[in-house]
Amino acid sequence: MARLHPVDLPGCRYDRRGRARTDRGRGAEDDSLRILIVEDEVVIADAVKAVLAADGHAVDIAGDGRHALEWADTYTYDLVILDVILPGLDGFAVCSALRMASFTGAILMLTALDDVQDRVTGLDRGADDYLAKPFSMDELRARVRALGRRRLEDRAPRIEVGDPVRKKE
Ligand code: CA
Repeated sequence: MARLHPVDLPGCRYDRRGRARTDRGRGAEDDSLRILIVEDEVVIADAVKAVLAADGHAVDIAGDGRHALEWADTYTYDLVILDVILPGLDGFAVCSALRMASFTGAILMLTALDDVQDRVTGLDRGADDYLAKPFSMDELRARVRALGRRRLEDRAPRIEVGDPVRKKE
């Protein structure tokens, strides 16, 4: 069941840190995503946020796994960009916890370069895609676009013409 997005509620224009929240519409032409970056390296988190915000997405940052789970429980995200190495709960634990909590958005994991086991573990825990660090911002943007297209297809209303067709699972 779809959860009501907090920013769609009247009077809910600010997040818990008092920042004004983006209150953009969710029309069919709107391909912007609500994204949560989970990364403890502030320079990387800020750089990724700047790039994705410039692409029109609404972006939040969580600096550790515990906050990531709190934010994902409070707001509805289309995509979580999740670093593996985090203080406390690591990215794999966060990924598992999100899926166990029925998080339906996309998860893109940031893994160590050439660490095949990290990628396998991430995908097994419910990640949709991975990107090896260090990554190029262009590749990150391309992967976000690809995951966003899938997400928007899921979100788009379906118009069926002709005989009713059983919905594919
Ligand atoms: Ca990190």
